[in-house]
Amino acid sequence: MRATCCTTLAATLFWLLPLNITWAQEHGGHHAQEGKKPAEQKAPDQAKELPVCPVMGEAVDFHVKTMTDDGPVYFCCDMCIPKFKKDPAKYAEKLATQRAALAKLDRVQVSCPVDAKSVDGKLTAEIGGHKIAFCSKDCQAKYAEHPGAFKAKLADSYTYQTRCPISGEQIQPNVFTNISTGQRIYFCCASCGDKLLKDPAKYAPKLAEQGVKIDPKKVTAADPKPKSDDHGGHKHP
Ligand SMILES: [Zn+2]
Ligand SMILES: [Zn+2]
Ligand SMILES: [Zn+2]
Repeated sequence: MRATCCTTLAATLFWLLPLNITWAQEHGGHHAQEGKKPAEQKAPDQAKELPVCPVMGEAVDFHVKTMTDDGPVYFCCDMCIPKFKKDPAKYAEKLATQRAALAKLDRVQVSCPVDAKSVDGKLTAEIGGHKIAFCSKDCQAKYAEHPGAFKAKLADSYTYQTRCPISGEQIQPNVFTNISTGQRIYFCCASCGDKLLKDPAKYAPKLAEQGVKIDPKKVTAADPKPKSDDHGGHKHP
């Protein structure tokens, strides 16, 4: 009886030991991949949930949207857009939920609320308690005359893809690549744009977690080069 008991215990230990080693290896490897940033610091970002599609309740794809008088509505897929347009009132409550979720997300203003041209974030004005970026003084003046007229366009002038898929750093509003699918991807610097084009499959998950779904097989640059202004001396490991 005793012998059986000890054998069982030994057998249990024997099986537990290698399992523990495997666990440690996996977790050790995982942390090593995260680089210099401690896991605790990254956790809140990743835990941030994406807003959901008012039609299907699935996480949105920020490149699938339609405009309303109050700004853009984001969906999980193209098929949900006609359903929403057919009966917007039906989805009003779900849309309010989406907008409440959007309000909690980080965002970066990337276009001018007047003419939708790209902004660099350097020309800004405090209007109605908001710091708003413009592409020109002209647009700023137009906006200041009738802020209410640009409400929807202002809401559509932000990207929620706030982190560079290559470095994880904050994107620059005027550093982007228009890929062949018509999607615009933002980066922290132009050299990161080149890296995405070289190996899109590697970085697609970093975009997906920010609500930007790309098909790596279809990724080529529509523009010959990523756009950038002055970004010298910016280096990544
Ligand atoms: Zn959908
Ligand atoms: Zn403008
Ligand atoms: Zn970069």
